[in-house]
Amino acid sequence: MESTGAENPNRVNFSQRPVPPGMRPFTPSSPMVGSEPPVSNPLAHTIPQTFMPPLSSGPAASQAAPPGGMYPYTSMPPMSSVPYGNPRPAGTPFQRFPTPQFPPIAQASQASTLPTPTPSSFHPQPQAPFVSMGSPPQNINHAPSFANIPPPSSSPFSGPWTTSQPARPSFSGYPSKEPNMVAPTPPVQTTPFNQGGFIPNRPPVTSAPFPSYQGSHMGPPPIAASSGPYSRDQMHHQSYGPPSGTLQGLLEDFNSLTIGSVPGSLDPGLDTKSLPRPLDGDVEPKAFAEMYPMNCHSRYLRLSTNCLPTSQSLVSRWHLPLGAVVCPLAEAPVGEEVPIQNYVSTGIIRCRKCRTYVNPYVTFTDSGRKWRCNICALLNDVPGEYFAQLDASGRRIDLNERPELTKGSVEFVAPTEYMVRPPMPPVYFFLIDVSISAVQSGMLEVVAETIKSCLDNFPGSSRTQIGFITFDSTIHFYNMKSSLTQPQMLAVSDLDDIFVPLPDDLLVNLSESRAVLDAFLDSLPSMFQNNYNVESAFGPALKSAFMVMSRLGGKLLIFQSTLPSLGVGRLRLRGDDVRVYGTDKEHSLRISEDPFYKQMAADCTKYQIAINVYAMSDKYTDIASLGTLAKYTGGQVYYYPGFQSAIHKEKLKHELARDLTRETAWEAVMRIRCGKGVRFTSYHGNFMLRSTDLLALPAVDCDKAYAVQLSLEEALLTTQTVYFQIALLYTSSSGERRIRVHTAAAPVVSDLGEMYRQADTGAIVSIFCRLAIEKTLSYKLEEARNSVQQRIVKALKEYRSLYSVQHRLGGRMIYPESLRFLLIYGLALCKSIPLRGGYADAQLDERCAAGHTMMTSPVTSLLKILYPDLIRIDEYLVKSSPHEVNFNFSRLPLTADSLDSRGVYIYDDGCRFILWFGRMVSPDIAMNLLGDDFATDLSKVAIHERDNPMSKKLTKILEKLRGSDNSYYQLCHLVRQGEQPRESFLLLSNLVEDQVSGMNSYADWIMQIQRQLQ
Ligand SMILES: [Zn+2]
Repeated sequence: MESTGAENPNRVNFSQRPVPPGMRPFTPSSPMVGSEPPVSNPLAHTIPQTFMPPLSSGPAASQAAPPGGMYPYTSMPPMSSVPYGNPRPAGTPFQRFPTPQFPPIAQASQASTLPTPTPSSFHPQPQAPFVSMGSPPQNINHAPSFANIPPPSSSPFSGPWTTSQPARPSFSGYPSKEPNMVAPTPPVQTTPFNQGGFIPNRPPVTSAPFPSYQGSHMGPPPIAASSGPYSRDQMHHQSYGPPSGTLQGLLEDFNSLTIGSVPGSLDPGLDTKSLPRPLDGDVEPKAFAEMYPMNCHSRYLRLSTNCLPTSQSLVSRWHLPLGAVVCPLAEAPVGEEVPIQNYVSTGIIRCRKCRTYVNPYVTFTDSGRKWRCNICALLNDVPGEYFAQLDASGRRIDLNERPELTKGSVEFVAPTEYMVRPPMPPVYFFLIDVSISAVQSGMLEVVAETIKSCLDNFPGSSRTQIGFITFDSTIHFYNMKSSLTQPQMLAVSDLDDIFVPLPDDLLVNLSESRAVLDAFLDSLPSMFQNNYNVESAFGPALKSAFMVMSRLGGKLLIFQSTLPSLGVGRLRLRGDDVRVYGTDKEHSLRISEDPFYKQMAADCTKYQIAINVYAMSDKYTDIASLGTLAKYTGGQVYYYPGFQSAIHKEKLKHELARDLTRETAWEAVMRIRCGKGVRFTSYHGNFMLRSTDLLALPAVDCDKAYAVQLSLEEALLTTQTVYFQIALLYTSSSGERRIRVHTAAAPVVSDLGEMYRQADTGAIVSIFCRLAIEKTLSYKLEEARNSVQQRIVKALKEYRSLYSVQHRLGGRMIYPESLRFLLIYGLALCKSIPLRGGYADAQLDERCAAGHTMMTSPVTSLLKILYPDLIRIDEYLVKSSPHEVNFNFSRLPLTADSLDSRGVYIYDDGCRFILWFGRMVSPDIAMNLLGDDFATDLSKVAIHERDNPMSKKLTKILEKLRGSDNSYYQLCHLVRQGEQPRESFLLLSNLVEDQVSGMNSYADWIMQIQRQLQ
């Protein structure tokens, strides 16, 4: 994300290439470990059985040819003389535990014949009045009772990728149904759903069970609100046109933009100053929590609308995505840490039919001896150990000691039946390119230095394991056994018949081998300082890393500086080709060409290996292929184009350090349950589906979010509330198996207007973003953009139709308050790096990398990428006292009109800063901040703190901005006004409200959409 299209010295014109083979469904022969547990337990037999490393045929002594004498550690002779063990068949040594499994929701719901509860309030209601205490219930041994649960019919890991399309490959993100998306000439069938859900004689449906409209974020009830709609947000972004009728002001339940001549505006169409702009960034929705105080925090779950439609016909009129964004490990709000409950001795209470975890919305009855599941309505027995009496109001008397019954988020320590093997230790394995470019760019040195500086802070303390492989045209293994004083390097040059020497000593305990590790990392840069090898045996090195790691799993961090050139998985300079853009071959640039990458990703996921790719090439490096490794293993792509230590060091250091030290959940699986009649139809993000609804996440952390879409299974929902429960089963770094459970309730409504009022733009845009980026993998960029626009148009049209009868809308565009930023975010999405323009508007690698980032970003980070902060700082630098710490800059509209040539501005998208100096900025400021550097080429200047108050204040500002979100480190790029082309590609092309590269300005976009609404 560092450099961009306009500066593109290395762009090569590549010849056309054939269309890549289609995405083959992946059907591995053996399923995986660590799944969320079941009783009937198909997965207990699923430990990877005798995985044969695909290449090796034994200790074939390769003719290792270490590049001439440059390995100080080669205390081992070439490979032929080393007594290598056979590569260990992975995965066999673990004990198997019988484990319960979640049955698919669909199966559970089929069997349901129970009446559904109809709670009249949001608090658990007892189903029976309080009666005198009977004897506590018998100690129910609930485990056997699970045994009648039908096992999932599909074999694990070969499951469909959407529940409605069993034949789909289990890879996410490939041509999938994208309801309502415009999809001409699809290579894969799209299945229209939610369409045509007309229900004859639809009975009147009760109104939503949330009469209150308190809170400034809620729209007012359709009629009423003496405060009037004008009071809401009018101050900073609303433009209510001249009232065209006197009644309107009192009755309107919507916001509007007047399109037509506006007095005093130069633009004949629109008063651009008053357009709604998300200058406060993402505001976490509160309405949901106000309605249901026991819901989990919106950081963990955000629905695209905080209510569910009661019927298919409503769904079909909603047009926006119906779904949610889930971030199971989001950093907890201060003071709301997730409580950890240990029920290892008594067992965790779950519904015996649908496997829902006990939560605040279950209801206790029969004097406390039974509980009713809020998801499937089954009446369950309360096990003796969990029994508590009910008080006069039907509440358990021990409620205060049971966080799982009062809080939307809780974590359970899982007993052994939730394990198919002992909890794995944290494993960090590094695969590092040491070819000439990795060395000369300084990458190797920064990586070695950063890893060393983090060794004390890896999660897992004494359990953590670590290992290294380096590669150029050969593969170098390192024996780090704690008994050694120096690591031993073992080089393997036979790339076709890879085997792993000393498989037991390549992955070592961090604490025990600390001295060897320190020695290794200290000398790693110098070991290769004279390496002139230009080749990259990346694929074979990756296979080697897999073979070392497959016994335990863990995180594989890949540092790649050169296009893979040797052995399996070598990639060619297919690159960008202007002639391909606009043709039906365009999308193939953005997907992996060689099936090797997807196969490796699938194998890694199976063995609990998550891959993070750090790509640093200064040339085309095929992020489309490399990124596949992260995509299907729950990993992440970091991209530093043209990495140079002098410029990018801090960024790499911070981001790598965060990656190494952030709390990580290992060997995880995630399942989301929801109430009867609703089901999840698609999942979007970095993971692999293990069965129809089980996401395999070898490693997961707070920076990963997933989008899901849902649909109604039946024509009509019969309940008034729908519940969601996210369950993440994982191994903590401390070695505990745990289940993190988030539960939320949402009302069912029969009023389309209510759905719009309750919409969450952040969640909607996050889902749109993922759908659109996935769409670029099968279609042209233009089609992906059009699909976003079309759905916005359809939604606004539908919304308009709700009011056009009562109101004279004239030339006004109307929208609900909740969606006031939908248009600008929609435009920003179409102008984002993955989707913008065509060939000339972003480099291919940059597009793919940005796409990977946006596919995993939580809502708040994503919205900041789409509509970054722009702030003016020169006045603060000049006027404020040097000790002032509370600076609150107002954020400015993202348009060149916001830039004053006397000012200094910071543009912050969460990934980088652009520091812009106006042409007429005071020499005093320039001198203080940059000294003599101001006169030189700013592209080569790095900002650093100087010994003067102004410079110190700037440092403070940058620190504060960085502190607001640590997921990426914003490197500061400097540019001065009029310095072309840098000003354009760094800043101007990112001012999303302006007309750039032939794409609409904000005002044009609104007018274009308005025309389509007529
Ligand atoms: Zn249930």
